[in-house]
Amino acid sequence: MILVVLENQRGKIHPFSMEAVAAGQKFAEQLDCKLFILCLGEKVDDLKSQAQNFKANKLITAQHTMIDMYSADGYSKVLSDVISELSPKYVLMGHSYMVRDFLPRVSAKLNIPFVSDIISVDFNGGPNFSKQVFNAKLATNIEVNSEQALLSFQSAAFSSDDLKDGGPDEEVQFNVELSSNDIKSQSEPEFQESSSGVDLTAAELIVSIGRGIESEDNLPTMQSLADAMGAEVASSRPVVDMGWLPPYRQVGSSGQVISPKLYFSLGVSGAIQHVVGMKGSKNILAINKDEDAPIFEIADYAVIGDVLEIVPKLTEEINK
Ligand SMILES: Cc1cc2nc3c(=O)[nH]c(=O)nc-3n(C[C@H](O)[C@H](O)[C@H](O)COP(=O)(O)OP(=O)(O)OC[C@H]3O[C@@H](n4cnc5c(N)ncnc54)[C@H](O)[C@@H]3O)c2cc1C
Repeated sequence: MILVVLENQRGKIHPFSMEAVAAGQKFAEQLDCKLFILCLGEKVDDLKSQAQNFKANKLITAQHTMIDMYSADGYSKVLSDVISELSPKYVLMGHSYMVRDFLPRVSAKLNIPFVSDIISVDFNGGPNFSKQVFNAKLATNIEVNSEQALLSFQSAAFSSDDLKDGGPDEEVQFNVELSSNDIKSQSEPEFQESSSGVDLTAAELIVSIGRGIESEDNLPTMQSLADAMGAEVASSRPVVDMGWLPPYRQVGSSGQVISPKLYFSLGVSGAIQHVVGMKGSKNILAINKDEDAPIFEIADYAVIGDVLEIVPKLTEEINK
């Protein structure tokens, strides 16, 4: 059996969890086994009503007032109890900040290996898992020989577009047993990617600005294009390092991981540290004046030219 654990992001299913459900459905199909989905927390009604759409064998709710707020102690205790009782073959989650925090504890508690930040799965003879190492310069393949494993997926390893509807066959409540002795730590307020309310991970259209715009004075020109398109602005790291845009706009290995419908890059070279943050985009359109820029290796549409010339004309056309 496969168990997917949903993460609650301010009353909604975290986008990474949606991808984990898509992964779970694929695992269940490929390995011919059952799929259970777990909602964890106290106020899980909104989460549960969204999860009721997903095709699965069981939707499990594990509720308790002491896990109203996330705490690594509380979550790892409850998930460990669920795993001990149900013995899933694989436990699947998105590789979020929360998962990085508490899943290693579950792994240590139950002595079950944790393969984190997986980018792809090979079901031929496996499943075997691929993950990036050395700051995403190499990929390594991992084979798990144990009876069970905890797995977390990098954003865009699976796509929520592949989610199958149909709802669970059954809904059950897990009897959570928690006491104040179990929760020794208290979490700080939930970490948010941005303090400004800009959620790049939820944006469908992104205009991404690189050092190729040449000067901060050209930012308004790029912003006008984003406004005309109704897109959010993102950037590469140098743009943030130079103080042209705030850090929450940064995409990449030390920034946000996004998978919009359209990622439109303006003067971004496509260095690997940037690409790991946006390679899951459904369509990639890039303007760069260097025809050998690495961004063109992954772009669906490549425009070789000067952003400073092209962008004002394009904005004018869109506004018409
Ligand atoms: C540990 C570590 C972590 C990192 N994390 C990140 C990260 O999270 N995100 C990230 O983005 N980077 C990250 N980096 C930096 C990364 O390696 C690159 O240096 C960075 O992504 C390059 O940004 P850029 O493409 O905007 O700039 P550049 O590499 O300077 O590229 C500018 C591009 O613009 C083009 N250009 C110039 N003028 C024009 C013009 N007028 N019209 C059109 N094209 C033009 C050039 O041909 C060039 O391809 C990290 C690096 C390290 C070492």
